[in-house]
Amino acid sequence: MSNSYVLWTQTATLVIDSQSSTAEGANLAQFLKNLTTPQPLTVYVTHGHPDHFFGLAALASAFPSLTIYVADPQIKADMITTAKTNPGATPDVVSFDYADQVQVYRASTLNVVDVPLEIRVGFVDTEADIESVIADPASSRLFTGDVMYWQAHMYVDIPSSAPLAPASTSEEGVRRE
Ligand SMILES: [Zn+2]
Repeated sequence: MSNSYVLWTQTATLVIDSQSSTAEGANLAQFLKNLTTPQPLTVYVTHGHPDHFFGLAALASAFPSLTIYVADPQIKADMITTAKTNPGATPDVVSFDYADQVQVYRASTLNVVDVPLEIRVGFVDTEADIESVIADPASSRLFTGDVMYWQAHMYVDIPSSAPLAPASTSEEGVRRE
């Protein structure tokens, strides 16, 4: 069980991280279909650990035209290696064509939904060789992958001039799976 985040506007949907198994990826796909989130669908993988991308094969099976992005070629390389070597990888996770399907998104601003999202990659002393975070400055939301995790101290200041908007009252939705 792991976290995914789903952001959607009227014209597009972004999923941040894609669960840790085919079964969980299929659950996430069903969740998206139940919500009838708009196409196109983009999946952004924060880093190459199994609990963040082993559900990709199931998602791609349910949404064949989805786009998969990572922030750095090393994250893509980590995914390819991890899928081949991790004992928890099921056959469809192993056989998924990460080399062909995963694209390296090289800009620091991700424009796949109607709001620009900011990508940062390369942090010191995190729990993977390379990790990324993605932020939605307009709503003051930060999606950290595992950059903020065990043995990490987290402090988030919410400026009074930019309060967090409840997801239920905003145009775009944010849901936690
Ligand atoms: Zn991790």
